[in-house]
Amino acid sequence: MSQHEEFRAAFSEKTQTLLGKSLSDSSLQDKYTVLGALLRDQISQLWVKTNDEYLHRGERQVYYFSIEFLLGRLLGSNLLNMGVAETRRQELSSLGIDLSQLEQQEPDAGLGNGGLGRLAACFLDSAASLHLPVHGCGIRYKYGLFEQKLVDGYQTELPDNWLKNGSVWEMRKGDKAVEVRFYGQVQLKPTDSGRLKVEHTNYWPVLAVPYDVPVIGFNNQTVNTLRLWNAEVMPDDPNSFDRTNPLKALEYRYTVESITEILYPDDTHYEGRVLRLKQQYFFVSAGLQSIVRRYKKKNGSLADFDEKIAVHINDTHPVLVIPELMRILMDQEGMSWDQAWQITVNTVSYTNHTILPEALEKWPVDILRELLPRIFMIIEEINERFCRELWGHYPGEWNRIAAMAIINEGYVHMAHLAVAGSNSVNGVAKIHTEILKKDVMKRFYQLYPYKFNNKTNGITHRRWLLKANPGLSKLITSAIGSSWIHHPAYLASLSRLAGDVAFGESVAAVKRANKERLARHIQDKYGITLDCNAIFDVQVKRIHLYKRQQLNALHILDIYNRLRENPDLDITPRVFLFAGKAAPGYYLAKRVIKLINCLGELINNDPIVRDRLKVVYLENYSVSLGEIIFPAADVSEQISTASKEASGTGNMKFMMNGAVTLGTMDGANIEIREEVGDDNIVIFGLTAEEVINYYQTGSYRPREMLADPRLRLVLDQLCNGFLPTPAAEFCALHDSLIDYDEYFVLKDFASYADAQTKIDRLFADRKRWNGMAIRNIAQSGFFSSDRTISEYAIGIWKINPVPIGNPYWMEES
Ligand SMILES: *Cc1c(COP(=O)(O)O)cnc(C)c1O
Repeated sequence: MSQHEEFRAAFSEKTQTLLGKSLSDSSLQDKYTVLGALLRDQISQLWVKTNDEYLHRGERQVYYFSIEFLLGRLLGSNLLNMGVAETRRQELSSLGIDLSQLEQQEPDAGLGNGGLGRLAACFLDSAASLHLPVHGCGIRYKYGLFEQKLVDGYQTELPDNWLKNGSVWEMRKGDKAVEVRFYGQVQLKPTDSGRLKVEHTNYWPVLAVPYDVPVIGFNNQTVNTLRLWNAEVMPDDPNSFDRTNPLKALEYRYTVESITEILYPDDTHYEGRVLRLKQQYFFVSAGLQSIVRRYKKKNGSLADFDEKIAVHINDTHPVLVIPELMRILMDQEGMSWDQAWQITVNTVSYTNHTILPEALEKWPVDILRELLPRIFMIIEEINERFCRELWGHYPGEWNRIAAMAIINEGYVHMAHLAVAGSNSVNGVAKIHTEILKKDVMKRFYQLYPYKFNNKTNGITHRRWLLKANPGLSKLITSAIGSSWIHHPAYLASLSRLAGDVAFGESVAAVKRANKERLARHIQDKYGITLDCNAIFDVQVKRIHLYKRQQLNALHILDIYNRLRENPDLDITPRVFLFAGKAAPGYYLAKRVIKLINCLGELINNDPIVRDRLKVVYLENYSVSLGEIIFPAADVSEQISTASKEASGTGNMKFMMNGAVTLGTMDGANIEIREEVGDDNIVIFGLTAEEVINYYQTGSYRPREMLADPRLRLVLDQLCNGFLPTPAAEFCALHDSLIDYDEYFVLKDFASYADAQTKIDRLFADRKRWNGMAIRNIAQSGFFSSDRTISEYAIGIWKINPVPIGNPYWMEES
């Protein structure tokens, strides 16, 4: 049989055995499932092999704990990483099946809000591709981030029932379930040996069942594991069956399962609800228990645990790993406090993701004590010892000690616990780490300077370039060969072509095709026709005041005003594209969405504009939508108030796809500028230093900015009935800008408008613009998460690559 015939037979047989249908009877969804199942079979062999090798070689393992993993779709990237994407495409095509249609059957695994969750997903991809033994640990939310629908320009939220057809990628491991305990009473009882024994009684037991998702390295036989935990009732829990009152038993079951029911939709905002704390302890305890169990099976005692295991926490959400590991080491393994503490600190490392005060987690003591009595006792003891250590360093400095304490004024400060109980604290971009050291965590830096380090974020170039932009990938390979795929830093050799007019035209042609693909999507879905000669100016990310979509919106209104005043105004036609979700309870962010949609309604149909301006809001931003947006962008809007965006990763996806950044000196924009040089990025606005200085002195007066007549006009238009919506709609937004302007929108307006004019001129010079695009692509290798993960592996985790077997099985390479 030829290879195609073999595939055809296997595909047809799998359709029968898995679904009980004939191929001719199967729907697109069925075909997707069958293709996934066939690939999963192939993956499973490597998965078992990888786990065997890790176990037998006894190599140090890393567990990356994150409350979010924003994976997106997996079929395309799994085919790519298994090295069979092209083969399967052809084989399916010979069956009359379009692979890309099958890919679209898969719902996004939207188990994250934004950057933090997507970072975790990129990291897993890079670690596996670098042969690194790094595994994810998280929550199997039944519902991912809500689906956003725009109704009359307003965001509405629908449940994201991503598991309704099951998932081909997860494997339930019922035999690996563990018990997690909440509530109850804890007593310390003396034993014959003189040690105290901990007795936890009357607790609420919840069964944690792991669902494992394979994480496939790029053409390298490594298959790591993302373990997602599901909450279920304990099989012998008497509350779960009650013959006299079955409804009560059902209700009980729901209470248990609700722990992993939903993802909280708040991005960079702290949610102080008990259910959230339950989620945090649930996956942390389950994850650690399963790590310890595996470790003990091989090694017996936990005395050298920290030599073989590293646990990384993605922000403070999993910080309870610190007291939980202490609990296991002391209460279950009988270690002394000092030995347990040493092992715990050596094991745990922590990434800080934000300095926004509203995002810093602090849990009321009363809630923690009731929900997790033993864990709270341990946190109290950690706090006491930590404060004693502080007293040793700073005797009499009460204010300093209070400011650094883990427990203070009735709250447990999770970031303080994370710094005290870990061996490494990293920020996610140079400027962010500097602000941590100099400002937000200054005192902790003075105490533990050796713990602090920077790891600038990255994105996987496999999903965001190779998969999302095949046209550009092929063009790059034809110009410099394919070694950039394994070594993205080699993209740098493209820069010698930055002045090559013909190559510039080829890059522009690819961009043009990607813009047409996106324009088709917008035409089909929204009925809006776009001019692909226009600048595609894109801002896609969560909607948050600090990210300043409102600055972009006010400036669009300003262009519109100028066009109305002078219909012959000479501007390069521009399409402003937006996408992003607002937290359902974030009133002003939701008003910004409505404002942008009002602008679209007003501008898109006004004949005065003559199609030189369009505003489109794409609904339901997600990884999959991003994959068609980034390749089509000319301009990347990264306009957060300086100091507020820890890193950003959307900025990197745009750059890698040849968009020019229009940004502030914030987050990784600063490093993008370092890479491409001042001529290949457009920077505007206050610096972080200036912003922080304004906050400290309180000397910013937004009303003074109203001296600018253009700005005054757009602000008036927000609430004078100019917009096609009830006049009061944007009053709160208007007032927040005039009265406080916490994010310096008015202050940066003029500078932003000038930067936009500069973009206009640069784009009109086609040769120049193409050169800028090429330089951005060429310098984007630094922002591959392969670079980031190598730095974590060497600098924090101290792990080595573990190559798995020989690539004899590969069908392509
Ligand atoms: C990359 C990404 C983000 C992060 O974008 P920022 O611009 O860095 O905030 C958020 N959501 C999705 C779906 C992404 O792919």
